[in-house]
Amino acid sequence: MNPTGSDDLNEQGFSTRAVWGGEPHDSAEGATVAPLFQGVTFAYEDMERWRAAGTGEGPGYIYSRNRNPTVELFEDKVRVLEGAPAATSFATGMAAVSNTLRTFLAPGDRVVSIRDSYGGTTKLFTDFLPRVGVEATLCPTEDHEALEAEIAHGCRLVYLESPTNPTLKILDLARLARAARKVGALVVVDNTFATPINQRPLELGADLVLHSATKFLGGHSDAMGGVLVGARELVDQVFHFREINGASLDPMSAFLLARGLRTLELRVQRHNSNAQAVAEFLASHPRVDRVFYPGLSDHPGHEIASRQMTGFGGVLSFSLPGGMDEMNRVLGSLTLAHRAASLGSVATLVGPPATTSHVEMSAEERAEVGIPETLIRYSAGIENPQDLVEDLRRALG
Ligand SMILES: *Cc1c(COP(=O)(O)O)cnc(C)c1O
Repeated sequence: MNPTGSDDLNEQGFSTRAVWGGEPHDSAEGATVAPLFQGVTFAYEDMERWRAAGTGEGPGYIYSRNRNPTVELFEDKVRVLEGAPAATSFATGMAAVSNTLRTFLAPGDRVVSIRDSYGGTTKLFTDFLPRVGVEATLCPTEDHEALEAEIAHGCRLVYLESPTNPTLKILDLARLARAARKVGALVVVDNTFATPINQRPLELGADLVLHSATKFLGGHSDAMGGVLVGARELVDQVFHFREINGASLDPMSAFLLARGLRTLELRVQRHNSNAQAVAEFLASHPRVDRVFYPGLSDHPGHEIASRQMTGFGGVLSFSLPGGMDEMNRVLGSLTLAHRAASLGSVATLVGPPATTSHVEMSAEERAEVGIPETLIRYSAGIENPQDLVEDLRRALG
């Protein structure tokens, strides 16, 4: 749905798109903020108009599991930010991932992906997709030759994520999309860590881009959601799967996510510069072992990231030379950070992957994917940079 002709916005800057994208021109009572359509069902006096809305031949909404004006406001804002022809949305980011994979993968199909995908996505590859006869081949994340070789063997879908969680590994998306095109595989990219402000995978050759809107897109840690953008023909297939399987985005959450989106560019600019300042401070600190941030020139993915991203993002991680006690002491001493899961919020969030997001791996498995036991993931909020740096200086002691 494109109620406002938002395609006109494709030449405009990101904040212009985010503010004006999807906004109705004729909102009730001249409201300047698109109203929240919390209602589940939509009534018709004219049976012919009702029939036309139901078949899609005419305008109008029927039932909010299928379509809802507030949900479409959110979808349209993400659509214009990613420069995509179509968008659809989901109750959570994981619903975006699972509904997309289930739409395109059938028994006997193979998907090629990386070892460092988001934890829930990896579980789909290792536990849930094999149950329906889908095989997933997970390559060492930065090994582009191995990925190209596996893709060349033939696969239905290539599933990528860059930067990755929690060590910010970088994939060359254009290179892998070219490899996928040669064998006719669909390329799906999880763009959650980058946001469309920093990276637009459709321009690099991806077919579909998805997000956990729970993170940067909403940005305030007060609503969950997922979103998918790409060509109309592909997005429609996932929309039809989702409307029947039922993982629809709630209108109240869509309203909050759309509100967050209007300030996305401003927030992401601050997230980027805060993460860069914190990463540079940590890299020069004697009590820090390693710092993982693609904005640092010694990061293995720095060159590719400089080419394919317009900002390095708000998440970094660092390890400490001491043991777990030292890590716990530093975590406990921070005053400007919630010790909590998730990322991409206005408030700084920190956590140890070894005991949270990657707790289901053994220490050996964590070592295999390059996650130090004393790693701390740091999602820089939009606080003032000098305060974040000072807080870390004190905590490191
Ligand atoms: C959080 C996250 C998800 C899952 O999103 P939810 O909204 O928590 O379901 C998927 N991918 C990445 C990269 C994430 O960070």
